Formats: sequence, C-alpha cells, structure tokens
Amino acid sequence: MTVVDTFQRPLRNLRLSVTDRCNLRCAYCMPEEEYAWLPRASILDFEEVARLVTAFTALGVDKVRITGGEPLLRRELATLVRLLAANPKITDLALTTNGVLLDAQASELRAAGLGRVTVSLDTLKPEVFRELARRDDLERVKAGIRAAKAAGFPSLKLDAVILRGTNDGELCDLLEYARGVGAELRYIEYMDVGGATRWSQEHVVSRAEMLARIADRYGAIEPLREASSAPAERFRLKDGTVFGIIASTTAPFCGSCDRSRLTADGMWYRCLYATRGTNLREALRSGLSEEQLNELIGSTWRVRTDRGAEERLAAHERGALAPRETLAQDPHLEMHTRGG
Ligand code: SF4
Repeated sequence: MTVVDTFQRPLRNLRLSVTDRCNLRCAYCMPEEEYAWLPRASILDFEEVARLVTAFTALGVDKVRITGGEPLLRRELATLVRLLAANPKITDLALTTNGVLLDAQASELRAAGLGRVTVSLDTLKPEVFRELARRDDLERVKAGIRAAKAAGFPSLKLDAVILRGTNDGELCDLLEYARGVGAELRYIEYMDVGGATRWSQEHVVSRAEMLARIADRYGAIEPLREASSAPAERFRLKDGTVFGIIASTTAPFCGSCDRSRLTADGMWYRCLYATRGTNLREALRSGLSEEQLNELIGSTWRVRTDRGAEERLAAHERGALAPRETLAQDPHLEMHTRGG
C-alpha cells in the first residue's frame, strides 16, 4: 500500500537523521558558535528507529537515506544499517556523510548492507575548506572517498554546495575531481533553510549560471530527461560525463516531492521548511500498536500540502529563514537536525 498526499505525491523517500551532532561547521548549515542540542534521553535507539521505519515501509516507503548532523558520529551505525538492510521493503538504502570518518567505516557499512554513499565535498582547496567548514579535514574527506570506492559501493555521489565568492571558482575542478574518482557530482544551490542564518540571495549561484559557466568550459550540455522524483536534475557533457544540479532555491521541485524527514529524536517533518512536525517518539514510547502507528503516519501524510521551497521562491522579501534566537528555542528547525 502507498499513501499519497493532497497533491498525489507518494510517501516513498525517508531521510533518517541518526544524530544532530556534527564534526564540521559548514557556513551554509552551522555558521554559529553555539547550538542547542537534542537531549540524549530523547534520541531513539536502533530498535525504535527500525520499528518506525517498518511502519513507514508498510505505507510505501522504499528509499531510506541515513543522515545527520554527521551520521558516522553515531556509534555502532553498522548495527542500524544491518537492521534496515534486513527490511525487504527497502530497495534503496543510502547514506550522506561529510566523509571525515568514512575511511575507517566504509567497508564495515558496505558489509552491513549499505547500498549507496553520498559524500559532501565543497572544495579541493585546504584554505577554502578551513574557511567553509572551520576544520582542517580535507585530506580525511578525500581518504574517505577513496575508501568508499575501495569498499565497492556501486554508486558514489559527491555533493557540493556552491557559494558565490567562496567556492564558485571550482565548479569545473570539482567536476574533474569527481570524474577522476569515478563519482557523480551534484552541485547544490545555497539554500535558505533553517540554520543558514547567513543566507542571502547574492551568495546564491543559480542553476542557470552554473550551466552557463560549465558550458563555457566544456561546450554544449545535454539535459537528461528522467522520470524521477530525485531532487537532482542530471546533465551530460559531450565526453559522456554526467553531473547533477539540485536547484531548490531558484527552480524548486516540490511538485514531485516524495520526501519526509525523521529526526534522531523521532520528530517527523513532511517538508524541509516545515515549522511543525509529528512526535513519533512519544507515539512509540506511549505504546501505540503497529496499526495505530501506521494510521497516525498515513493520516498525517494524506493531508500534506507542503511546498516549502516554492513558497520561499514566491516570498516578497527573501532572507534567512529563521533568526538564531528562534532556532535556539527549537533545534528541530535546524537543517543539521533534519538531515538536509
Ligand atoms: S521544499 Fe519541501 S516540499 Fe519542496 S522539495 Fe523540499 S521537502 Fe519537498
């Protein structure tokens, strides 16, 4: 059974945050010094996560992406991967990581049943990495990418968030690097999501501009027509190199969005921009039966109307989504808590 929302969008793709903590402080996600963290007692254990995922897969979810914060900070993560990989309804089990800890964990995660890995890599320059992430871990990230290849993941993707004046000069270098390691690069437009407190339109490099600058270097770019709800639009260069662009800021794709997010403490959000969520942790810990849990999730999705990025694009004045004070009152509004 697959439940659909008010726009006939199916509940299919669950982004599963397993921690709100991160070992980097990327300027487009965690630019501040201080953060309010989720209380440890509220963090779901792996059994609870697996039970909730079972409820979601009973309602049509078949794609699960493990995220954070930084998911590899969660101890024994391979145990959770093994639990989820044992769920026959999950046809696509993926993980997004900043790569800093991947070198040590790639083969164990692969052996546990993880299917795909996406590594965030925004720059190839150590000084820019230090500026963007406020840590000096570029070489560890590159070692993690090599380890993912060596572990035999069938598909490896690299995500690069492009900020004007910071790493937009590396559009083609990142593409060359990705091609060199046998990965598919996706450029991501700088998004005004919760936590991006320094966001401004002038720092956004749009999809259109990225394509124009890449075409300047490589010539004609062919759009790949694909019937997919995946956020990335894909393109091919004359030499066959394929890359993607996730243009949520200037060309949102809410119309086909089948994604929702579960935070590490069991709050479920039907949209990245949603301000209110459903507390599935309380539902679980208060003893709801499987049927009652399915009914709660199903009925909540059926009334979904979210099209957050489109509403942001239509907004008259567009600045940062929420000020620091508001985020400090509810850390669930933060992207690093929702898993991007
Ligand atoms: S903004 Fe919300 S509705 Fe639009 S694509 Fe993102 S998660 Fe989906």
